[in-house]
Amino acid sequence: MTTAVCPGSFDPLTYGHLDIITRAAAMFDGVTVGVLVNAGKRSLFDVAERVEMLESAVLHLSNVTVASFDGLLVDFSRSRGSTVIVKGLRASADFDYEVQMAQMNRHLEPDLDTVFLPASPERSFLASSLVKEVAALGGDVSAMLPRVIVDRLLARLADRGRD
Ligand code: ADP
Repeated sequence: MTTAVCPGSFDPLTYGHLDIITRAAAMFDGVTVGVLVNAGKRSLFDVAERVEMLESAVLHLSNVTVASFDGLLVDFSRSRGSTVIVKGLRASADFDYEVQMAQMNRHLEPDLDTVFLPASPERSFLASSLVKEVAALGGDVSAMLPRVIVDRLLARLADRGRD
C-alpha cells in the first residue's frame, strides 16, 4: 500500500486542485488531501470550511480522504503513513519554489519523496488567489470551480462586501 499526501491551502478548491487530486488517486492506493490550517491569516474560508468543501468535491473518489494539518508537512505525512507528496506544477514560478520545498522535505525526512504532476494545460492558469480576485471584481468563475464552491465563494464575497 502506497499512500500519498496532496497538501495545499485550497482557499478555495479549484478544478486545478481537483485535477491533481484525481490523477494522484489513480496512481496511489490512497490519497490524503492535507489542508493547511494557516493559509495566511487572511484566508477567505476557515479551515473547517475548506475541509468540508473538499470533502464534498472528492466524494466520488473512494480512496481519497481529507484532513487539516498545522506544522511541518513531513510530520503530517508521517502521521498519515504516507511516503509520497504529490504537487501540481503550473509554470516555472511554481517550479523554483516547489523543488526547493521538495529538497527541504527530503532532507528532513529522507524516506519521503515528492512527485510533481504537470498541470493540465486547460487548468494551468487557475490559482485560488486569482480566482478570488476575478470573482470579487465580478468576473465569471463558473468554469473554474465546482458549482457548490462557486456559490459559496460568491456568497462569502458578498458578505465581505457588506462589512
Ligand atoms: P493556490 O496556489 O491555488 O493557492 P495551493 O497553495 O492550495 O494553491 O496549492 C496546492 C497545490 O495545488 C500545489 O501543489 C499547487 O501547485 C497545486 N495547484 C494549484 N492550482 C493548480 C492548478 N491549476 N493546476 C495544477 N496544480 C495546481
